[in-house]
Amino acid sequence: MKKNLIALVSVIAMISGMAVFLNQRQNVEAETTTSEKLRVVSTNSIIDDMVQNVGGKHVANYSIVQRGTDPHEYEPRPTDIAATAEADVVFYNGLNLETGGNGWFKKLVQSSKKEFNRDVFAVSKGVKVKYLTTNVNEPDPHAWLDLANGIKYVENINRTLQSKDPQHAAAYQKNTDRYVAQLTKLHTQAQTKFSQIPAEQRLLVTSEGAFKYFSAAYDIPAAYIWELNTEAQGTPAQMRAVLKKVNCSKVKSLFVESSVSPKSMNKVAQETSLPVASTVFTDSLANEGEPGDTYYTMMKWNLDKIYDGLK
Ligand SMILES: [Zn+2]
Repeated sequence: MKKNLIALVSVIAMISGMAVFLNQRQNVEAETTTSEKLRVVSTNSIIDDMVQNVGGKHVANYSIVQRGTDPHEYEPRPTDIAATAEADVVFYNGLNLETGGNGWFKKLVQSSKKEFNRDVFAVSKGVKVKYLTTNVNEPDPHAWLDLANGIKYVENINRTLQSKDPQHAAAYQKNTDRYVAQLTKLHTQAQTKFSQIPAEQRLLVTSEGAFKYFSAAYDIPAAYIWELNTEAQGTPAQMRAVLKKVNCSKVKSLFVESSVSPKSMNKVAQETSLPVASTVFTDSLANEGEPGDTYYTMMKWNLDKIYDGLK
């Protein structure tokens, strides 16, 4: 009985999975048919955008966590399960990102009968890992906020797409070369720009401590209220600690992430009389059509807004 039920669920998942990819594809001008396209599922919008840049017209892409939503904690919907079951390749960040809610992603991989390193790949492979301050055994997931790591993600995606779809290897390589050149230019420009800000004004204040990799890449120390979005948020002790750091610096403004509630940061603004200069993007792209709706424009937005707020 249970076996039959599982079989039935898988069949439904497969059928609706095809529908999911077909729906996504309607927006894309199709030169090839669905069956020829590589079906690629990513856990979030940032990875999904990289996949689109590398895969172009040869992939049918699907992103699990919706834009503006926190990828740490997530409850997969039936369409997510269907798309994952149907996928040729599944990309996830790894480094402890998709581990909230008792490991929602691992459960999704199991229930959709996929296997790590056969169908499911971590795009962060090869990144030099930074660890959490509050739990030194756990990796900090936010590696993509350093463009040099984002480039590693793109190269990993390129390698996997080429091995899964060797027929289009040349196209993937060409797309990757062009995209990596754009990202590299943005990265080196940002490093030059930030070096002009006086040291005592260099402090990036956000709600979540998502900027460890960013801080190291662009030489901007970071202060935050809580370290990871999966934790208890904005406790009195956390608020006291961030206020102390801000008051010891000559920082001119604060920032708040697009995918968290601004409540705690507004409290910091009240207490310090500093303005919240802008939203920044950490764990999600902006909605399509809005500024910051691609990895490149999200990073450019962050770099520009943070520079303007600190200078
Ligand atoms: Zn995060």
